[in-house]
Amino acid sequence: MHLLGLHHITAIASDPRQNLAFYTQVLGLRFVKKSVNQDDPGTYHLYYGDYAGSPGTVLTFFPWMGLRRGRPGHGQAYATAYSVPSGSLSFWQERLARLGVPTAPIESRFADEVLPVFDPDGLRLELIATAETDPRLPAPAKDVPAASAIRGFHSSTLGLLEAGPTMSLLVDTMGYRQLAQAGSRTRFAVATGGPGTYVDLLTDPALPRGLNGAGTIHHVAFRTPNDAAQATAHREVARRGLSISPVIDRAYFKSIYYREPGGVLFEIATDQPGFTIDEPVESLGSKLGLPPHLEPHRAEIEAALPKLA
Ligand code: ZN
Repeated sequence: MHLLGLHHITAIASDPRQNLAFYTQVLGLRFVKKSVNQDDPGTYHLYYGDYAGSPGTVLTFFPWMGLRRGRPGHGQAYATAYSVPSGSLSFWQERLARLGVPTAPIESRFADEVLPVFDPDGLRLELIATAETDPRLPAPAKDVPAASAIRGFHSSTLGLLEAGPTMSLLVDTMGYRQLAQAGSRTRFAVATGGPGTYVDLLTDPALPRGLNGAGTIHHVAFRTPNDAAQATAHREVARRGLSISPVIDRAYFKSIYYREPGGVLFEIATDQPGFTIDEPVESLGSKLGLPPHLEPHRAEIEAALPKLA
């Protein structure tokens, strides 16, 4: 299977305005796409990433106003980590404290320092100040200096009761390799390795079963370069006996979905065509993006969605 790393990660939120304000004004990410949940076009699908919405930088949300909180636990992606430059955590601690954003004390993880941060729905994010080279350019943000800004994803941590079956899927089928292990955490990398490719398995029999709701991750998507590579991936996942969806056209990428043995929903998404298919890079996020089958209903969809600004 030809995977390149993380593609996007999708989470669940409550208030879309609060969500937009946090990811753009607090974290300094770019609002790269305003779309709708294809399974529920009366609600948004909001995307935040780097300037161009590059694969490996984009966190997306399904916000449902008033939705109750979920419970983080096993069978879910438990934490989503961003890569920030080495030495930048004091900037983030000061900024997040000033803005009243909850954080937890800095932890050590392998060679790096990790600052846990909680979004307005309690979603666990982590800023990882890594000494590793991360050449990705940050999204320009008004009051986050480039020297401290988020580069994109570092890793996704999956919460599991036992790691073995997931590890076997990652290594034997998905092309991942084990990099490091410490305590209950095992790290895997794919392709070139480095920030944006890592998956950590956190094995803890004491974790409660994760429940979907605001502040939890819905699924983790992995990058594959093109349709042919995705077709191969589809065959290889099916050959393992896992149930897998047909290819679904998400307008900005094509997707296949399957649940890994620990219960986490995985997606494999193509790098192409990307977020500039329906608006130029300079104005990403300004127009409501709709898939072709919903375009005839644009006026009623726009009228039903809550205003974001
Ligand atoms: Zn997805």
